[in-house]
Amino acid sequence: MISYKNVTIARGDNVLVKNMDLAVGEGEFVYLIGKVGAGKSSLLRTMYKDLDIREGTEAIIFDEYDLLSLKSSQIPYLRRKVGIIFQDFQLLTDRDVEANLDFVLRATGWKNVVDRRQRITEVLDLVDMVGCEKRMPNTLSGGEQQRIVIARALLNSPRLILADEPTGNLDPETGQKIVSLLYKICKEQHATVIMSTHNLAFLNYFPGRVIHLTDNQLVEVGGTDEPDTIEDVVAGSTPGSLESLEGIPSDLLHGSDGSNNAADHC
Ligand code: ADP
Repeated sequence: MISYKNVTIARGDNVLVKNMDLAVGEGEFVYLIGKVGAGKSSLLRTMYKDLDIREGTEAIIFDEYDLLSLKSSQIPYLRRKVGIIFQDFQLLTDRDVEANLDFVLRATGWKNVVDRRQRITEVLDLVDMVGCEKRMPNTLSGGEQQRIVIARALLNSPRLILADEPTGNLDPETGQKIVSLLYKICKEQHATVIMSTHNLAFLNYFPGRVIHLTDNQLVEVGGTDEPDTIEDVVAGSTPGSLESLEGIPSDLLHGSDGSNNAADHC
């Protein structure tokens, strides 16, 4: 689904990643780690053409979109297939949850109001927030807002979800619930998830592949085995192992992702 070969990513004169290769398949759950400023956000941004790749032999998304030659008229079609989730919840503060979601549906071509209502209910159900349609964003907790952001990212059934430090502004417990949700969506909706994070302790509960951006290179560092069932993992009863991650700095393995409030029901 993603194939990068010999790709270089830069910001101005600052080369962030040089000659990287990356292949990610359908339904994979991938952790992207690295120090602040290593280029994690920049790499994710290249995948929906928010940032141009500086050089590369190949950069293909969904076996269809060639990022090296994509016409600007094609970019909206690519972006409709990608769900994007950032650390700072970016809901429109002047309108309620339903209007936030409806705005995206209308902007992406959903003309029928009944279809839009139905889709909004479906995505709110996926993130366990049905009933919150009329809430204004500033009346929701950080975790709840992030759920709505995830619901918004799911509206067009994306095949790829890019989550850039989605738990960065949440307390550890709420952060774990958000990752649990992304993991569930990955496994049940068969979406590929690439998530940048400083908190690899999530691997204890949500097994995945780990790629490390360091010294201008992308290094595969291994991950954990698949658990028995999704239910076990979501319940946190089948911890994975961090033993396969030798060489990763301990602050990346046991980081905490800031703090916020922890309410998680509407
Ligand atoms: P990370 O997500 O790993 O923290 P980023 O991709 O955000 O890293 O940033 C990588 C580097 O690119 C940093 O040195 C940052 O200062 C620089 N950078 C980020 N955004 C821009 C921008 N819009 N213009 C120029 N440089 C930028």
